[in-house]
Amino acid sequence: MNNYTISIGLEVHCELKTDSKLLCSCPNEFGGEPNTRCCPVCIGLPGSMPTLNRKAVEYTVRAGLALGCEVAKYCRWDRKNYFYPDLPKAWQITQYDLPIAKNGVLEYDFCGKNKKVRIERIHLEEDAGKLIHRDGVTYIDYNRCGVPLMEIVTKPDLHTPEEAVAFLTELKNVIKYIGVSDVKMQEGSLRCDVNLSVAKKGEPLGTRTETKNVNSFKAVGRLCKFEAERQIAILEKGGKIEYQTRKWDDIKNVGYCMRGKEDEQDYRYFPEPDLPPIILTKEYIEQIRKSVPMSMRRKIQSYVDNYGLSEYDAKVLTEDKDISDLFEETIKLGANSKKTANLIMGEVLKLSKSIGSDGLNIGINAKRLYEILHLVDEKIISLTSVKNDLIPAIWKTDRQPEELIDELDLKMIYDREVIENELRKILKDYNKEVKEYLNGNKKVFSVLSGRAMKLTKGKCDAVLINEILNKILNSKEI
Ligand code: ZN
Ligand code: MN
Repeated sequence: MNNYTISIGLEVHCELKTDSKLLCSCPNEFGGEPNTRCCPVCIGLPGSMPTLNRKAVEYTVRAGLALGCEVAKYCRWDRKNYFYPDLPKAWQITQYDLPIAKNGVLEYDFCGKNKKVRIERIHLEEDAGKLIHRDGVTYIDYNRCGVPLMEIVTKPDLHTPEEAVAFLTELKNVIKYIGVSDVKMQEGSLRCDVNLSVAKKGEPLGTRTETKNVNSFKAVGRLCKFEAERQIAILEKGGKIEYQTRKWDDIKNVGYCMRGKEDEQDYRYFPEPDLPPIILTKEYIEQIRKSVPMSMRRKIQSYVDNYGLSEYDAKVLTEDKDISDLFEETIKLGANSKKTANLIMGEVLKLSKSIGSDGLNIGINAKRLYEILHLVDEKIISLTSVKNDLIPAIWKTDRQPEELIDELDLKMIYDREVIENELRKILKDYNKEVKEYLNGNKKVFSVLSGRAMKLTKGKCDAVLINEILNKILNSKEI
């Protein structure tokens, strides 16, 4: 393996989140009753005429600018002809030699190093429908037909499976960040084709294979490893790599050949006669450039500079646009930046990850977060209660923090008498430890104080607990 260079290039398909489809006014939404979001244009009835969705072009330009591409002033639509049941017209409207954007670059971090991947091109095309195979019958759902699909093609600049995954993670973040797609792999709004070749060190690129429609980052990593090993094994035996279109079975963890690669000429690309070319003015492009949000790298630096966060914290908070928005909005309301960062990175992200949420669907918005931090500052509620009780309760009930604090009885207790009674009750269950303490083993104190903290569910201040516990243990009537 060490004698070989692996080269990986990716073709990332990304559904744009426009309101309507690319070439008709049907709604662009995931799911729905099959074949209810279709019209003569998107199911390709003869004589129907496409009309271009401007927003899809704008989103693609936006992605192009965020990825440092040159945006074309003139581009065109082409027909890619092939027959497949999910493509009722028998051609796909796409862009062949004149894509909207090209020659970009995306930087990403890998093992502490800054790496670059060149973006060859970004073009726009229509998505196909979906085939559903069930009980030996194949059904077709055309709802997805005509959904705007942006395709980002990289140069083969990735050299390990891990690099490919790190790059994809960064790319996904950027796309989500600029708000052009929700990049949900589980809903297929981000899909990836993997081109991989191997060559002896120092030799030119070998013949590549293309594995289609991989739909998770983990699968990309596994298939790259599998495919690189497969190709190297062939070369080691003196064989030759053949052009192939392949499929990956992520359950069996194997890839297999679907067909020999078709030549580009098999698609008989030709300019789409039903759509005029796109002409983008300099003013139009510059206007979109202004609206592209600050790149994540610059954002990380600004979090370090302006909010005094560590680089690690800044990275975690900027990884997802929803998270960084939440952070910034909470700060704007007047919250302390470090405390806000800690609460988001700790409890908010932990909960949203534990329920497998892709974003922040846990009922926490900036106003609520600010209120929680305020209540903690005022010592009305402890951070422990926030973590263990309040945030989970907000997620389950979607109600205001203050209401829930009352209802769940989470207010901190400062009444010494109440605390003392509570502690005396608790100590009854710890006779053995109390005796040990009274016999001179002072180390047991921390055990008892820990139990007391736990059993009072974070409602009492630690200093106060220790003080009162000390008082009880050293009093006569224990
Ligand atoms: Zn339609
Ligand atoms: Mn494509």
